[in-house]
Amino acid sequence: MTYTLIRSRRKTLAIYIKPDGSVEVRAPLKLAKSKIDEFITSKSAWIEKKQAQITPPSELRDLPLSQYAKGDFERVTLKIVKEWEQKLGVVTSFVGIRSMSSRWGSCTAKTRRIRLNSALEYCPRECLEYVIVHELAHLRESNHSARFWAIVENALPNYKTQKEKLKEYQWVLNIR
Ligand SMILES: [Zn+2]
Repeated sequence: MTYTLIRSRRKTLAIYIKPDGSVEVRAPLKLAKSKIDEFITSKSAWIEKKQAQITPPSELRDLPLSQYAKGDFERVTLKIVKEWEQKLGVVTSFVGIRSMSSRWGSCTAKTRRIRLNSALEYCPRECLEYVIVHELAHLRESNHSARFWAIVENALPNYKTQKEKLKEYQWVLNIR
């Protein structure tokens, strides 16, 4: 098992499973490497269990890395934005596609700017479309009021399924 070793003036040995699943071992300055390896081996079942908890569910592990040919994601995204701007009767001033660690999209209604997470490249197109409609709908209704959700539902009658589906891809945010 591979791990990163960090030695310090501590008295005990500790194993940390980091959010990306890698293993970090913190050890006292003079503890022999063989002792550390022995300890890791004795804890390997526990380490694997912890890693399994933070890695994607098995049915998602074999996903192709991207759902798009190179450069296509941005083009397709901007095209969907254009289509929905027309259907919803809104206009954006800026569409940013970038990596974000905790959200799929954001909208600043005042300046009419929307941002979309570049990790959507790894999600099904229906999820991408949901996020785009969600953010564009904020140009008409800035909070998550009943009126807001009515706009979304009117645009995408299936939005609840699309929204649920997106949750299955939450792990994508962690691996980037
Ligand atoms: Zn929102």
